[in-house]
Amino acid sequence: MADYFKTIPNDEGFFGDYGGSYIPPELQEEMNRITDAYYSISKSHQFISELRSIRKHFQGRPTPVYFAKTLSDEYGGRIYLKREDLNHTGAHKLNHCMGEALLAKYMGKKKLIAETGAGQHGVALATAAAYFGLECEIHMGEVDIAKEHPNVVRMEILGAKVVPVSHGLKTLKEAVDSAFQAYLKDPVTAIYCIGSVVGPHPFPMMVRDFQRVVGIEAREQFHDMTGELPDNLVACVGGGSNAMGLFSGFIEEPGVSIYGIEPLGRSFKPGDHAATMTYGKPGVIHGFKCYLLQDEKGEPAPVYSIASGLDYPGVGPEHSMLKDQNRVIYDSIGDEECLDAFFALSKKEGIIPALESAHAVAYALKLAKEKPRQSILVNLSGRGDKDIDFVVENYGIR
Ligand SMILES: *Cc1c(COP(=O)(O)O)cnc(C)c1O
Repeated sequence: MADYFKTIPNDEGFFGDYGGSYIPPELQEEMNRITDAYYSISKSHQFISELRSIRKHFQGRPTPVYFAKTLSDEYGGRIYLKREDLNHTGAHKLNHCMGEALLAKYMGKKKLIAETGAGQHGVALATAAAYFGLECEIHMGEVDIAKEHPNVVRMEILGAKVVPVSHGLKTLKEAVDSAFQAYLKDPVTAIYCIGSVVGPHPFPMMVRDFQRVVGIEAREQFHDMTGELPDNLVACVGGGSNAMGLFSGFIEEPGVSIYGIEPLGRSFKPGDHAATMTYGKPGVIHGFKCYLLQDEKGEPAPVYSIASGLDYPGVGPEHSMLKDQNRVIYDSIGDEECLDAFFALSKKEGIIPALESAHAVAYALKLAKEKPRQSILVNLSGRGDKDIDFVVENYGIR
């Protein structure tokens, strides 16, 4: 796998059998333009040095790797956390939003368009738009607008326009449709900024590349701390961007075991979870091919997780490939185990994790019991401030 990043994805955007671009011709033209711009602009010295400077001075990178000693003493193993919760805006998403927005600026775009579910991607993109002085339009289902009020206010304070979507189930899938329509009306001055390693080519590749900073930093930091590579990596997988960020630093190291963790929600019954890799089969969603939770007609199935950032019926094409290659082991964690880990990390280490990230922590605690002599590096993708009211109102304090 020596040339992994030079050969994957291929020129058509395929990661093995997955990915590609299944979209209308008028959108394909625009995707080709973005792909060409990405290959020329993002490899230029000027772009790279501007992004480096943003990472350092605006985002506050590098984020630390932290040895969770109390947790390790109690559960076994040696558990380390890559602290993406300390990245500006409190999660890893800003890593790719700043990259996408910088590309938009270099392409002469005036406006960023995206959808958001829980509002995390919307807030990160609104932050990037404010930084670059670009307009920002975020499409959001009315159900989500009611549920995620603080993030709606954040986006508006940051100067973004939040467009309510009132058809269908009024959640994420309809928001994507609505944002795509808005983009089709204005593909010259606007650019669509996808929130994870999903969507048509070049987005899964581009978002992965912008997230690689996580893996590059973590590898160097872990080596400085221990003189070794980690034995195990663990990250939660919604679309899969934080996971690809960490994994990409170690994917060519056969000695590193890698675990991607999906939400098992309330149960394994359809509609109760979003464990795409375990229960899905290949299909097409939002312009790309991947493992997909689907009904008999091949339509995306309803999904659920306590962590709204993880409830997507598809998954990044690169993860789909890595599953088939057995390079990454995909497993799942339910709501209850997630909540236990949420409180364990809070009480033992003084770090309140995002519910998404708590899925990875929960799996690491299990792995630590199974492999007490090994090191485990967890991507702590975000902080849990956004989740505290929801957790306490629905589950109390544990
Ligand atoms: C959005 C989000 C995720 C899930 O997205 P990925 O693309 O799978 O990384 C995970 N953690 C946090 C904190 C998030 O906000």
